[in-house]
Amino acid sequence: MPKVNVIGAGLAGCEAALRLARAGIAVDLYEMKPNKFTPAHHNPNFAELVCSNSFKSDTLEFATGVLKAELRMLDCALLAIADEVALPSTQALTVDREKFSQLVTQSVKQEPLITVFSQEVSEFDLNAPTIIATGPLCSDALTTFLGDLIGEKLYFYDAVAPIVSRDSLDFSYCYEADDGYINCPLNREEYLTFCRSLQDAERIKLHDFEREINFESCLPIEVMARRGEDVMRCGPMKPNPKFDNGAYAVVQLRKENIEGSMLNLVGFQTNLTFPEQRRVFSLIPALKNAEWLRFGVMHRNTYINAPKYLNKFFQLKTHPNIFFAGQISGVEGYIESVASGLLCAINMIKYIRGLPLLDFGTDTCLGALQNYLLCGNINNFQPMHINWGLLKPIDAPKKEKKSRLAERALAKIAVLKEDL
Ligand SMILES: Cc1cc2nc3c(=O)[nH]c(=O)nc-3n(C[C@H](O)[C@H](O)[C@H](O)COP(=O)(O)OP(=O)(O)OC[C@H]3O[C@@H](n4cnc5c(N)ncnc54)[C@H](O)[C@@H]3O)c2cc1C
Repeated sequence: MPKVNVIGAGLAGCEAALRLARAGIAVDLYEMKPNKFTPAHHNPNFAELVCSNSFKSDTLEFATGVLKAELRMLDCALLAIADEVALPSTQALTVDREKFSQLVTQSVKQEPLITVFSQEVSEFDLNAPTIIATGPLCSDALTTFLGDLIGEKLYFYDAVAPIVSRDSLDFSYCYEADDGYINCPLNREEYLTFCRSLQDAERIKLHDFEREINFESCLPIEVMARRGEDVMRCGPMKPNPKFDNGAYAVVQLRKENIEGSMLNLVGFQTNLTFPEQRRVFSLIPALKNAEWLRFGVMHRNTYINAPKYLNKFFQLKTHPNIFFAGQISGVEGYIESVASGLLCAINMIKYIRGLPLLDFGTDTCLGALQNYLLCGNINNFQPMHINWGLLKPIDAPKKEKKSRLAERALAKIAVLKEDL
């Protein structure tokens, strides 16, 4: 049985390594800490939570809660540790981050089939079974190596715009333009109120290493608002005379997935705090009661254009022995990174045993993440956290939709578990 190389002992890498080892497969796990740290990592232990200590909601009312339920059914190692060190909280799974990293490190180091190498990987054997799990701050040398391998630089972004669900728009205040966008007009008074609120809204404090990547061509919307009242309406909020007759300014919404159930606010990359995004962007009349599937964020992020280079099993199309796990693969968030580590390990086990790989299907959260890598927008691909918009829609009354989606997902996992 061949050994598997796992590069990066973060959330995805540790989950993958533990799963492989527990299935009887030897793993060489490479982690550059404590010899070298990314700008956001400080703790020498593995699976460091670099920012918040929350794995977000843990109830079935949210897609992230359903994803956790699926992972627990599949004996996810890191989630079991997170549960062990959970802090008292009503709805969210919040952990003692020090204990969490310590216990993950201990579990990995105690596993007889895992050998840990404390070294930076700058290149690797392209023929060996390998899982790349080096995260959004993958070291420069490996980023360059991977860019050369796929023939295109890995993606960096400095800011990402929020996403809303199409179902939650108020269509008495917006319309479909025939260029495929949904346009949300504002009159002069609405625009000025919006602009002033944006100028005063609270921003997230950036790390030093993030400050340098604020490109002039991709300015956060609040920075534009602060430059002058007319900047936005001559930029991303400029009305199109063909569709927006009489509007003083317009917010355009662009499809984020093939179904068009998720829409991003074009040009609205932002670094406002999440409550401020909800407050200020809800001043746009069509978005008054919007469901925010993802808020905008800003930080350096290294990831592969998954729809172009990966298949839904997280394998590099040109080298099926190489899998990408975690944020570098195009998922976003702590629990999504853990989930993709588990998915990669499940399918790496099948791959080296010569068995067909497992597609969880878009009626589960795990499968919805798989599918996003396949169907994301190839021209503007951005990492995504789990949300209801990624799942196959269900025909049910609005009130029951979420509980029915959750039930359907967990029933499917129960069946698929038999195949593991
Ligand atoms: C600043 C910042 C804040 C974030 N905050 C949150 C948050 O609050 N909530 C949330 O859900 N998500 C957050 N994210 C997004 C994401 O969920 C986390 O980055 C998550 O840790 C990603 O998991 P991962 O396993 O893909 O990578 P990581 O957990 O980052 O693990 C990657 C590991 O690979 C190692 N490594 C890198 N290059 C090499 C190399 N060449 N050789 C060997 N080892 C290497 C690193 O040292 C690291 O230990 C944040 C991201 C960033 C950058």
